[in-house]
Amino acid sequence: MNNPLEYTARDYTVSLPASEYIAVYRDARRIGACCRVCPNYGRSWACPPFDFDMDEYLSGYRTALIIATKISPVRHDLPISEAQRLLYPERIKHEKALLELERRYGGRAFAYAGTCLYCPAGSCSRPDGQPCRHPERVRPSLEACEFDLCRTTEELLGIPLRWGEGDRLPEYLTLVSGFFHNAGNVTFG
Ligand code: SF4
Repeated sequence: MNNPLEYTARDYTVSLPASEYIAVYRDARRIGACCRVCPNYGRSWACPPFDFDMDEYLSGYRTALIIATKISPVRHDLPISEAQRLLYPERIKHEKALLELERRYGGRAFAYAGTCLYCPAGSCSRPDGQPCRHPERVRPSLEACEFDLCRTTEELLGIPLRWGEGDRLPEYLTLVSGFFHNAGNVTFG
């Protein structure tokens, strides 16, 4: 029997000056407000509020590399509840590659928004006031840093984000991450 979660995945990347990406695609007021009503707000160390100054965190890099992976399930009747299982293998690939980029070039990685991969669901140490168990692996997402991902993928990569069609998965899901750096030509994957 075929794997019901069979999918195809294609990576898209774009590089632009980090200062331009921050000026045009960061919307602290609007995206920050969205984060504040998310159930993960203040309940995961990967999510805001952060204990660092965001302007400072984003500063000091010449180039922003934006990475999007378009994940298209082969079956078109999958329930929306399968989204995380479908995303999982590609999230693992993104996060591994991002940490490798940081190791090779310095710079700053931004992972995918959503639940953290590194502890069982619902067991983040933050609600208990304890430190993150894996700070060497956890990176906030571009969205957590107040970037507008709808405009990012649509305007920079030509990929409109899709959310779902009723209780069904959309035609494709899009995983977005980023890497700010001062190296020369950095490629992903
Ligand atoms: S690694 Fe664990 S403790 Fe750290 S942010 Fe993720 S879920 Fe929370």
